[in-house]
Amino acid sequence: MPNIEILLPKLQTNSFAYSLPQNIQANKGDFVQVTFRKQEFVGIVWQEYSEYLDQEKIKPVLKRYDLPPLKKELMEFVDWVAEYTMNAPGSILKMVIPIQSVFKEKSLSKFIPIEPASIVPASSINLSEEQQVAVNKLKEPLDNKDHKVLVLEGVTGSGKTEVYFELIEQVLKEKSGQVLILLPEISLTSQLIQRITKRFGIEPARWHSDLTDKEKRNTWLNIAYGGARLIVGARSALFLPYSDLRLIIIDEEHDSSFKQEEGVTYQARDMAVVRAYIEKIPIILSSATPSLETIYNVNKKKYELVTLASRFGEATLPTSVIVDMKGDNARKKKFISAELVDELKDVLEQGKQAILFLNRRGYAPLTLCGECGYRFACPNCSTWLVEHRSLSCHQCHQCGYSVNFKSKCPTCHKENSFVPCGPGVERIEEEVKYTFPDARTILMTRDTVNSIQAVENIINQILDGKVDIIIGTQMIAKGHHFPKITLVGIIDADLGLLGGDLRAAERTYQLLSQVSGRAGREKDKGKVVIQTFNPENPIIQSLVTGERRSFLEQEIMGRKMVHMPPFGKLASIVISGFNDEKVAEFARFLVKISPVSNTISVLGPVPALISRIKNKFRYRILVKAERNISIQKYINYWLDGVKAPGSIKLKVDIDPYNFF
Ligand code: ADP
Ligand code: ZN
Repeated sequence: MPNIEILLPKLQTNSFAYSLPQNIQANKGDFVQVTFRKQEFVGIVWQEYSEYLDQEKIKPVLKRYDLPPLKKELMEFVDWVAEYTMNAPGSILKMVIPIQSVFKEKSLSKFIPIEPASIVPASSINLSEEQQVAVNKLKEPLDNKDHKVLVLEGVTGSGKTEVYFELIEQVLKEKSGQVLILLPEISLTSQLIQRITKRFGIEPARWHSDLTDKEKRNTWLNIAYGGARLIVGARSALFLPYSDLRLIIIDEEHDSSFKQEEGVTYQARDMAVVRAYIEKIPIILSSATPSLETIYNVNKKKYELVTLASRFGEATLPTSVIVDMKGDNARKKKFISAELVDELKDVLEQGKQAILFLNRRGYAPLTLCGECGYRFACPNCSTWLVEHRSLSCHQCHQCGYSVNFKSKCPTCHKENSFVPCGPGVERIEEEVKYTFPDARTILMTRDTVNSIQAVENIINQILDGKVDIIIGTQMIAKGHHFPKITLVGIIDADLGLLGGDLRAAERTYQLLSQVSGRAGREKDKGKVVIQTFNPENPIIQSLVTGERRSFLEQEIMGRKMVHMPPFGKLASIVISGFNDEKVAEFARFLVKISPVSNTISVLGPVPALISRIKNKFRYRILVKAERNISIQKYINYWLDGVKAPGSIKLKVDIDPYNFF
């Protein structure tokens, strides 16, 4: 019997040798059943031969499934991502085959594949001239069946979605072929799906963590058989076994939520570009504020830029004003400035809607005792507890630890001595209600809106005009189209700049311009009020002037000077464990044995920004390399044979976004 290599969708595994009995035909890419540690598993034939010799130890393949085999492009992609992210290929295959229950006899026999069929759009629109020019340019690689990375840059409300709908239409009109739209957050799917249904007369397939197993099974199979023509998904949808993928669209490509932080860490946008390259298909990166990495690639002529300069129709971009929170406003001890109160008054009088944006959940980020100075801190993490009035508790945003409200200080025992410090969205809502007792307010944060259903409810309430003032975190900033919003108030524009990580400035700029983009999306002119303690800050300034390019040029210069991405490569190694001293010692040891190199520097170790999470102490080592160097090879060479003591965990994160 010949030996073959089978890859199982299991974390941290490479392929294993199995033997292929005479009565089973299985080729590369086929789905087969095998036993592994006494359990039955479905795996993929990864190689049609194996050098493994010991026939005694080797187990036979049990059966082959009657399913479309994995395409060689997808297998290549799995291997590529594994190598790039420094994970075993089994970890990546687990994202291709996330649910083993698909293969149960019962679910497979019940499944009847939908035949792919051409889809006639239910409605169409007349494009503006600018939009038509963009469509023509974007269509070229689709017509020629070429790989190309296209950057669709257009101000909020310019019709980027309508423009990429035209390309989707082109694919769907054919007899077969699939389009994948990736969104940074599942809260954005509802509105897009509604628009798609109206436009194409079909419900797209959806893929995200909020689906039942049954939905996942069905969708997975329809994707594998090609019946699902249009798929809207979160990051993980990138790894599905599309039978005939023709086009990938990354909406809000700049959004750092595309970086998966748990388990296998990967940047879904970047990996999507790789998948498109391997599949030889076009990919569109759409955004009002393309990321610096993307602009860099445009400048290098690796990506092609297509722009929409103006908002569609009568809508114009909102005007922005800066409110200096120092001086008078600070003395009043209010979080909403007199200027913003005036604007809100107008909005309420005219029956329009306003958004107040503050990217901080809860009531106050810190609570202390006015008598003795006691602060509520998390016992498990090096963090302060966030006061949540709606939940009557103080909560840790790292580990979820919470304590119910008390009336007495735990150290000095004084009654009602607690002072909240700084605002969260709940506190802003309180101030709004105090100032405008009749206004109808709603909170939009992860605490109040925690399912797709809840998102839909809120969106409908806003669209139906049942709400006057929406107070929200970044959840409200992204993508949504609310015609009656004419005012956006940014409560604390300086907030995002604090973290001080590599992308803090860029991220703040993107977030603030995105939330600003919610204002005045139809004929009513929009206004944005930016509250800040640093009115001179170049980021705040460029938000007002709309001169994104000058901000970007500055950022690019800054990164170039210090060889930071995209001019250099970064990897972060986080070492964590319960014993602070041991973790620190191991981290220092690692740095000490790091190979000397002219092109790579190893920095640290330093305690991570949050130095303890869930009682684990965390140290960070940063590896910085020149752009053309394989940072993975270096790390492999360095860590080869190094064994972390049992209680210590070591995690490598290539292209880190999170420096916590
Ligand atoms: P973006 O994705 O750039 O934010 P959208 O595609 O959401 O912009 O367009 C903003 C609004 O303008 C939407 O309501 C959209 O339907 C409308 N719109 C854009 N282009 C057209 C067009 N050519 N004809 C009619 N409506 C349009
Ligand atoms: Zn905690």
